[in-house]
Amino acid sequence: MAQTIRKELGDYMSTECFRYLRMGAEDTAGRALIVAAGRQRGLSLADVLQSLGNDTAQVAAKLNLVLGKEGTRLCIVREVKPTEYGYEVRIEESACSMGMKTEEPNCAFTMGVFIGALEIVSKRRLTAKETNCVAIGDEQCVYVLEYI
Ligand SMILES: [Zn+2]
Repeated sequence: MAQTIRKELGDYMSTECFRYLRMGAEDTAGRALIVAAGRQRGLSLADVLQSLGNDTAQVAAKLNLVLGKEGTRLCIVREVKPTEYGYEVRIEESACSMGMKTEEPNCAFTMGVFIGALEIVSKRRLTAKETNCVAIGDEQCVYVLEYI
């Protein structure tokens, strides 16, 4: 992706602007668009993930470095666990759930990032659902990813 440098404001903007972008896009084009956008972000991490193989502890540490407090601050990655059908991911402080109180899990963009990232790691296509979400009152957001 082309880089345009912001001299005064730097790389970051408020999650408030992200929330409006997300809600507007989702209202207009549906949640699949948001998941697809997140997946593209996850796929963009190929350079940092390809050398790790399928060591999920290393993958979680690397994703936390890139996406967490020292990275883009999308979320804190607590765990990436292999399962017989794919992966289970546990995160906290997702930008998708910040300030949100919803009736159903809400982290479509963040979940999409893990779909793309773990497709790089596994070299397989994945689908996912969010089973727990901070926006509905859970302590963590949990994504269950399954091989297609
Ligand atoms: Zn969530």
